[in-house]
Amino acid sequence: MKTETIAIHAGNIVDDPLNPVIQPITLSSTFGHQEGSMVYSRLENPNRKSLETVLAALEKGRDAAAFSSGNAAANAVFQALPAGSHMIAPDDMYHGLKSLLLTVFNQKIEVDFIDLTKPELLSVAIRKNTQLLWIETPSNPLLKISDIQKLSKTAKEHGISVVCDSTFASPVFQQPLGLGADLVMHSSTKYIGGHSDLVGGILITKEKDDFWKQIKNVQALAGAVPSPFDTYFLTRSIKTLPYRMKAHAANTAKIAAFLNQHPVVEKVYYPGLENHDGHLIANSQMQGFGGMLSFVIKGNAADADKLIDNLHYFTNATSLGGVESLIERRSRVQGVVTGIPEQLIRMSVGIEHIEDLLEDLEQGLAQF
Ligand SMILES: *Cc1c(COP(=O)(O)O)cnc(C)c1O
Repeated sequence: MKTETIAIHAGNIVDDPLNPVIQPITLSSTFGHQEGSMVYSRLENPNRKSLETVLAALEKGRDAAAFSSGNAAANAVFQALPAGSHMIAPDDMYHGLKSLLLTVFNQKIEVDFIDLTKPELLSVAIRKNTQLLWIETPSNPLLKISDIQKLSKTAKEHGISVVCDSTFASPVFQQPLGLGADLVMHSSTKYIGGHSDLVGGILITKEKDDFWKQIKNVQALAGAVPSPFDTYFLTRSIKTLPYRMKAHAANTAKIAAFLNQHPVVEKVYYPGLENHDGHLIANSQMQGFGGMLSFVIKGNAADADKLIDNLHYFTNATSLGGVESLIERRSRVQGVVTGIPEQLIRMSVGIEHIEDLLEDLEQGLAQF
């Protein structure tokens, strides 16, 4: 089956005497005791099972585990590590996960944040107790591209597990398991959900090994699981994911090209541009460059805020991956301490008509 077909069929598991075309929502918290039946919805639920099945199929993995947020999914990985572990994470890691590691896990896990766009830095950072390599590509918000294959190869030589946060790429544009990663993570709040109406997270594994069993144990016992409503919405959204991604990517390529030649714009961060540092690697490991870009205008933070205020179709809000375009000055959300230019604007390009989006940007920038 090809991606578009998997997206529509793999998660629609109908086991109902009325023969509905679409799988119903099973709201029950518990199930009548019977040989082979599900037991309790924290452990298992038909809608969650369907979601995990379709995502495992899209990522070409053995199994998947759904969580109530992207952070809860990553949290389960960190909880599954032995105490005293060392891990290596990217310097441009999603700020919420960086904070999780530095606050909640600071007693349990030692972390080095390094620039993973330079794979030669990895072997230097590896220690005896290094258990985990965390990759995020493309990264949030600088759209840095890390070479999944090269980094995984080095990690494997040292027996280190590799997780890739593939949220910006979506399962449609990048399949890290085939490139050597052991686990893939997504914030399903973003492209997988696609309509800015729910929060969720997912992990997909290449093997059902001991590390995975430990993660499934955290899912079942710590219990940060999504509701049947949320998992139903996600399987529904996934059916259009391949087509939404094509539209996001087509619009974003045009906007990146427009911004890149605009006299008011200083720099554009988009892996689809030939002048982007990670363009060649992105071209080889992704099937599309995605719907996210960042840029810096000639001016300061107040100018960036003014540009955002000038726009009509780009809502000034955080998050990404929805059908509607969003824009924000990133340091408002994550601060300037993390090395993000104060005036950096991050854009999640929606699937509105490209002419409307370009016209809006043109008038917004014309006011400078
Ligand atoms: C949003 C996001 C997360 C966190 O996901 P939540 O669903 O908000 O908990 C993790 N990684 C990346 C790259 C994200 O964009």
